[in-house]
Amino acid sequence: MLQRMSSYFARTLREDPVEAEVDSHKLLVRAGYIRRAAPGIYTWLPLGLRVLRNIENVVREEMDRIGGQELQFPVLLPREPYEATNRWEEFGSSLFKLQDRKGGDYLLGPTHEEMFTVIVKDLFSSYKDLPILLYQIKEKYRDEARPRAGVIRGREFVMKDLYSFDLTDEGLAHSYALNRGAYRRVYTRLGLEFAICQAQSGAMGGSASEEFLFPCDIGEDTFVRSPGGYAANAEAVTTAVPEALPFDDAPAPEVLPTPDSTTIESLVAKANELYPRKDRPWRAEDTLKNVVVVAEEPDGHSEVIVVGVPGNREVDMKRLEAALAPAEVRMAEPEDMKAFPQLVPGYIGPQVIGPNSPLRSVDPDGVMSGSPKYLLDPRVVPGTRWITGANEAGKHVFNLVAGRDFEADGTVEAAEVLPGDPAPDGSGPLTLARGIEIGHIFALGRKYAKALGLTVLDENGKAQVVTMGSYGIGVSRLVAAIAENTHDDKGLVWPVNVAPFQVHVLATGKDPQVFAAAEKLARELEAAGIPVLYDDRAKASAGVKFKDAELMGMPYLLVVGKGLANGTVEIRDRRAGNTLDCTVEAAVEKLLGFIRCELEKTALERTSTELIGEPDQFELDQENGGAIQTSNS
Ligand code: ATP
Ligand code: MG
Repeated sequence: MLQRMSSYFARTLREDPVEAEVDSHKLLVRAGYIRRAAPGIYTWLPLGLRVLRNIENVVREEMDRIGGQELQFPVLLPREPYEATNRWEEFGSSLFKLQDRKGGDYLLGPTHEEMFTVIVKDLFSSYKDLPILLYQIKEKYRDEARPRAGVIRGREFVMKDLYSFDLTDEGLAHSYALNRGAYRRVYTRLGLEFAICQAQSGAMGGSASEEFLFPCDIGEDTFVRSPGGYAANAEAVTTAVPEALPFDDAPAPEVLPTPDSTTIESLVAKANELYPRKDRPWRAEDTLKNVVVVAEEPDGHSEVIVVGVPGNREVDMKRLEAALAPAEVRMAEPEDMKAFPQLVPGYIGPQVIGPNSPLRSVDPDGVMSGSPKYLLDPRVVPGTRWITGANEAGKHVFNLVAGRDFEADGTVEAAEVLPGDPAPDGSGPLTLARGIEIGHIFALGRKYAKALGLTVLDENGKAQVVTMGSYGIGVSRLVAAIAENTHDDKGLVWPVNVAPFQVHVLATGKDPQVFAAAEKLARELEAAGIPVLYDDRAKASAGVKFKDAELMGMPYLLVVGKGLANGTVEIRDRRAGNTLDCTVEAAVEKLLGFIRCELEKTALERTSTELIGEPDQFELDQENGGAIQTSNS
């Protein structure tokens, strides 16, 4: 049925929604694609739903092509499998939990490793049944601490999640490679650039994991690239550790007055003013900054931790949180500091913390008290010398030597990564960029199968634990990522294979013949299989119609107006920004040609290796417990 603007359930807004910060969010709301139902929870209006379905279909085709079989779990899930893997607790406050009338516990699925494992266990028992790839495209629920940017970070969102089940490590490597290739095809077909980045596996666990990031300034993730092709999420970057230095000749530590020096900047200035070095000025990287944080475990237990980093770097809370997962981390408040009077804000030094602290005591339950845990940046190797707090207001200690004068309970990757840092692959300096995580693949290994008892009998009749992978695509997030990628200052601009309608037919003016001709063209296009939106509104001015059409973002506009008297209409290509006059008779054929040409570029058949390069090379690294080594393109 021809969709007419006069009766279509869409209203455009002239004003940006107050809570919207990023363009895709503003435009999707203003153009009538989504509507906020509650914080981080959105209703898909007809236009938005059509885009979501189009993206789903691209994802579905690629999953089916690698042999994935689609199924669907209920929204409401039982507690038991999540209890068995400990994730009922580990997910912490991001899990939506609820009870039925009998007091039975349920949850809204945040991710479905458990459910897939259990169903394969229910139905399969032999190695002959493997390998298998199962997936669903389904709402996920996570009570995100900071829902953001519309559907980019929602509390309800649509994910494609596929799970692979194999008997052997080689089998898992093959399944992983298949999925990785399918992901490349999906994003290529959706017109999105992507960087494949090494990732932290976080609450998922497992050995190898990579994220697909769409490079974009409004992205929440920071990722790095090296000249040699290494790419990683900043969370997963490992610091190049310098060699330890001898310290036998190092001078003794010296406590010196440094009034009003509670920041690194003021401390460096004060040190240069009062205690100048002979060879060069003091610099921020000569200082050791100690930041107090609180790590809250999912079970509610919380711990105060001091993190030591070179003073020229901030503590990157995302890196710290990734390192301490599943704990959630926040900066310490004055209230948290009350238990540790030896720590003087602005003048904290490691002399009174760490394993050798005179204040360290262990109570009978094995819980540390008296001194918080101390975690150090890996660069602070034995022999390095530091200016740091003297744990006395207005004083710092100079020449405090790591390994001689203080020790830590461990190291932590928490310092921010800076452009120019040496790349772990040794190929040169790192560059940094921001991106939106649009997919994440994990070689899980046997963790979930073990926890839930998923075994099959092998050729010799012996029970073997199955090895798994899990592969997620943020389908609803992709709606916004594509909108970010292609919009312009007038509104949304959809790629043809994603657009809710491929042609927006506009009848302008008041002449009934114009409306009749426009409707006829719209019907012809529709009969040829093209989804069409027809602006038939009698009372809206041409200006209003153009504005709405530009905001809504269909790739082609077909304008029927004054030119009709001379037998011509106008085709506008929204993306190229050009206009073409053509005869009424030629219009449909012209449009069909343009659309066919565009669709061919992104069709299933075209996106073989031809479009995305050679298949990925994979090797198994047995020493690493079967971790998959990937050679990035
Ligand atoms: P993030 O780091 O962005 O919170 P995640 O690593 O927790 O994401 P995964 O568990 O890897 O997410 O989920 C797979 C995919 O689902 C992600 O790559 C992302 O595209 C999408 N996704 C995750 N959380 C959300 C969300 N809150 N809203 C929309 N999409 C999401
Ligand atoms: Mg992820």
